[in-house]
Amino acid sequence: MPPVNRKNPIRATSSESQYTLMEFMREFPDDDACLLWLWKNRYSEDGEHAECPKCKTVKAFARYKTSQQRQSWTCTACGFHLHPTADTIFHKSSTSLHLWFYAMYLMTSTRCGISAKQLERELGVTYKTAWRMAHLIRTRLMKQDAGPFEGSEPIEMDETYIGGRYRYPGRGKHLGGRSTTAKQPVFGMVQRKGRIVAMKVRSATRETLYRHVEERVLPASTVYTDEYPVYNTLAGERKVEHRRVPHAERIYVSGDVHTNTIEGFWSLVKRGLGGVYHAVSRKHLQGYLNEYAWRYNQRFEERDRFQLLLLRSTLD
Ligand SMILES: [Zn+2]
Repeated sequence: MPPVNRKNPIRATSSESQYTLMEFMREFPDDDACLLWLWKNRYSEDGEHAECPKCKTVKAFARYKTSQQRQSWTCTACGFHLHPTADTIFHKSSTSLHLWFYAMYLMTSTRCGISAKQLERELGVTYKTAWRMAHLIRTRLMKQDAGPFEGSEPIEMDETYIGGRYRYPGRGKHLGGRSTTAKQPVFGMVQRKGRIVAMKVRSATRETLYRHVEERVLPASTVYTDEYPVYNTLAGERKVEHRRVPHAERIYVSGDVHTNTIEGFWSLVKRGLGGVYHAVSRKHLQGYLNEYAWRYNQRFEERDRFQLLLLRSTLD
């Protein structure tokens, strides 16, 4: 057996990880490396030339060492400053880019997510800062894609209720045994072999749910649901091929007709929220749904999740 190269360890092929902490530290050893990455990915492929908005042409840019430690590159022709963090979630943050990148690394490398408390410990920032960073990553970088499902794979849809701290007990109403007093209704759709979307909804009524269906599901799509009465008019109103699973008759799968994919996702979310985040307020539930949907939607991606999230941060 050849001697082990301890300076360049080879990852076990059984390891699920695609991008280890060692690789992260090698690629992003400090704040400057993070800023340079943003500069190259947003403005300047070679790191030296960029389209100057003032000169309206490609010019040489230089990074001058200034006393204010400005995070910018300057056009050598006209003096215009380009800020690689402009319009990103990192802009004007007092937290270093290196910590931002590390937070993104941590949020994408864990299977079930990471709590703000854990982020606080890992990053050495205050709880408030850690919470705010995670919140921005969830709501901005992991925002769910708009637009309809494409292709002919069937779509499963289902609604569920997720428990949370509730400020005004007794205000909710009952919908056929599905109590909304203490729980937040959530609606989800998943295309088989494809994307999932999950959103917090005001109520699981026809009016609310169909609005989301209209946005995501094209006419003539095949749709599977359970027998919740709200879906009674789905075929007629949305012009879809609608099949239902008679859960009441204790039938859960009939050939291809089932809602196991979306139900599996719900149990993943509920287990995750219970285990990692304990109690999530209604107000912030959408962020967590984004995070779980984002992770789910990256499962067929070749590239590492962290790198995908990094690229997303440049698109803002
Ligand atoms: Zn210029």
